[in-house]
Amino acid sequence: MKKIAFFDAKPYDKIYFDKYKNDYGFDIKYIEYKLGTDTAYMSKKYDAVCAFVNDDINSEVIDTLYQNDINIIALRCAGYNNVDFKSAYGKVHIARVPAYSPYAVAEHTMALLLSLNRKIHKAYNRTREYNFSLTSLIGFDLYGKTIGIVGTGKIGRAFINICKGFNLNIIAYDPYPLENSDIEYVSFDELCRRSDIISLHCPLTKDTKYIINENSISNMKDNVYILNTSRGSLIDSEALLNGLRSKKVGAAGLDVYEEETDLFYEDFSYQVISDDILSGLISMPNVIVTSHQAFLTHEALSNIARITLENIKAYFDETPLKNEICYKCSKGEKCNKEKNKNCF
Ligand code: NAD
Repeated sequence: MKKIAFFDAKPYDKIYFDKYKNDYGFDIKYIEYKLGTDTAYMSKKYDAVCAFVNDDINSEVIDTLYQNDINIIALRCAGYNNVDFKSAYGKVHIARVPAYSPYAVAEHTMALLLSLNRKIHKAYNRTREYNFSLTSLIGFDLYGKTIGIVGTGKIGRAFINICKGFNLNIIAYDPYPLENSDIEYVSFDELCRRSDIISLHCPLTKDTKYIINENSISNMKDNVYILNTSRGSLIDSEALLNGLRSKKVGAAGLDVYEEETDLFYEDFSYQVISDDILSGLISMPNVIVTSHQAFLTHEALSNIARITLENIKAYFDETPLKNEICYKCSKGEKCNKEKNKNCF
C-alpha cells in the first residue's frame, strides 16, 4: 500500500481524506507541520507528499523530497504560487486540484460583500448585547452599482453569475478575455476608475503581485469596496490600510492576506500578534478578515479529497497525470503534456 505524507493536516482534512482513502488504496500519515525546509525530511519512507496553500515548496524542499525518493507532490488546492516549479521540473511531478467548487469561493465573496455593506458583523454583536440601535448601520443598494471583476476564470465567472442576480452592472479585466461572452471587458485602469466594488479572482503571478497598490487605489472611486478571495499578495496591504485610513477605500473583505502563512489556520487568540498591518486592518469596523476559508464547504472538501487521491493514483498507475502543472505549461508553453503524457 502506497503511503502519503500529508502536511499541514487539519481535522477537517482528516474527515474527508479518511472517507475516500480506502477507495484508492492509500495509507495516509497526517502531519500537523507545514511542509518547508525544516520539515521536508519527514517525507522519508513515504511514497508521495500531499501539500496545501501555505506550505513552502522551495528548491531545498524539492531536493530533500527527491533524495527521499518522492516523485509526486499532490497539492490539495488550485493555486500553486508556493511551488518552485523550475526546481521541481525533471525531479518531482506537481499535481493540483484545478477546480473543486468555484461556487464555494464565489459565494464566500458575496457573503463578505453583503456583510460589509449591510454591517451584519456589527449588527450581530449589537443585538447580542440587546443594543437595537441602527446608528451607523446604513448600507447601499447593490442594485445598479458597478462591480469590477479582475480575472474571469472559473471563480470569477461563478461570482459574475451571482452578481447578475443582484442586478449589479458588471465590468471585467482579464488579459485572456473569454471569447463570445457577454462580459464587458475593460482595461484594468478603466475598471479601477468605474467600479464601486472591485473583486479579485486572478492568480498570483509576477504580473499580478500588488495589482492593488497606492497608484491603482488612487485611480479608484471614493468609497470603493475591495474584495480579495484570491491570494494575499495581489494587494499591497500597507497601501490598502492607508486607503482605508484616508477613507478613499470604503471597505475591504479579505479572505487572504500577504503575510498569512504563519498565521492563518492557527489559533492565536491568546497571543499578541506582531503584524501591525494585519492588526490595523482587523481593528477597522469596515474590514472583515476571514482566514482563507472561502473554499471550506462540504462539496469542495469532498471534491478536493477525491481529486487529490485520483491524482496520486494516476501517477502510480502510470496513467497520464491530467492535473499536472509545470513551469512551462503554467505559462501556456509546450511541455510533454501536449502529447497526453506527464509534463516531463
Ligand atoms: P482560473 O485559472 O480558472 O482563472 C484565473 C483567471 O485569471 C483566468 O481567466 C486568467 O486569464 C486570469 N488572469 C491571469 N492573469 C491575470 C491578470 N494579470 N489580470 C487579471 N486576470 C488574470 O482560476 P480560478 O479557479 O478562478 O481561481 C482564481 C484564484 O482563486 C486562484 O488563483 C487562487 O489563487 C484563488 N483561490 C482561492 C481560494 C480560497 O479559498 N480563498 C480557493 C481557490 C482558489
